[in-house]
Amino acid sequence: MSVIALDLGGSHIKFGLVENGQLLASANVAVPSSKSFEAVLPIIETQVELLLAAAGRQKITGIGMAFPTIVDSDQMRLLYKYTKYNDANDLDLVGWAKATWGVPLAMENDARAALIGEWQSGAGKGTDNLVMVTIGTGVGSAALVNGRLLKGSHYLAGNLGGHMAVNFDGGRCNCGNTGCLESEASSWALPEILKRQPGYAESPFAKGEKPDFEAVFRLAAVGESFALAVRERCLEAWATGILNLVYAYDPVRVVIGGGVMHSAGVILPFIQNKINHAAWLPANAVEVVAAQEPDWAGVLGMGHLALFFHAQDAFECSED
Ligand SMILES: [Zn+2]
Repeated sequence: MSVIALDLGGSHIKFGLVENGQLLASANVAVPSSKSFEAVLPIIETQVELLLAAAGRQKITGIGMAFPTIVDSDQMRLLYKYTKYNDANDLDLVGWAKATWGVPLAMENDARAALIGEWQSGAGKGTDNLVMVTIGTGVGSAALVNGRLLKGSHYLAGNLGGHMAVNFDGGRCNCGNTGCLESEASSWALPEILKRQPGYAESPFAKGEKPDFEAVFRLAAVGESFALAVRERCLEAWATGILNLVYAYDPVRVVIGGGVMHSAGVILPFIQNKINHAAWLPANAVEVVAAQEPDWAGVLGMGHLALFFHAQDAFECSED
């Protein structure tokens, strides 16, 4: 059975035609930010036709969409704004999928979709107890406990690891709290993190160096003292946040993805060491690994969820 899976990001939509867990055709398409999501739907329809043609398939049995916001994956509703397209919450996307392709629509949060993709096809294979953390512009997370995607009563469970506080005395976060993992160590917060660090005025960042993690890790690698201090602070924040997630969800493996993993050689051993030495856990209980499908985990996972959702839907119909 073929399903179409979409992973909706800030500037691009990733598309995949997924069959038996394999990506038969894929595309990464830039979408105009000036348009409404309603205006993007025809772009999606055209792209789906292109994927079907590329893979030599006539029809699909389901469609799945992963959104960068909190999603009610039972009623297929966005519970918070999809900040790029404020009209997305009000659209009848289930009705649109039914009218366009005659198939059910599955929806899920993008971090949960990525976790499912890594679980089925990547670094999460072989275990049913998994935490996924994506460190980039923000910090996303998701948890699989005993083979079940954790959702909770408000679809928040496991999803807000980036807003677990790691420093009650820390910087202001965009969520309203202070000292969240995101506001202590993520790309959006990094310019302020750099300014708060003692010695900023004499640092390369006050003299025009780009305030991003590429620069922090590059300068730290050659021993630049300010960058080293910032790197250590962020590593401590990530390790503390991930240790909190380990206590919360008791996984056997933590999969880390996101832009900072270009520096996985520094990040993974630091966090593994923290968990090995600071955690109240049996020896070698938790393995910290890099994502294996950093670009397509969301699409692969959404493909799996769409297939499962379709199977469930068909099962329910057959009982009527
Ligand atoms: Zn926060």
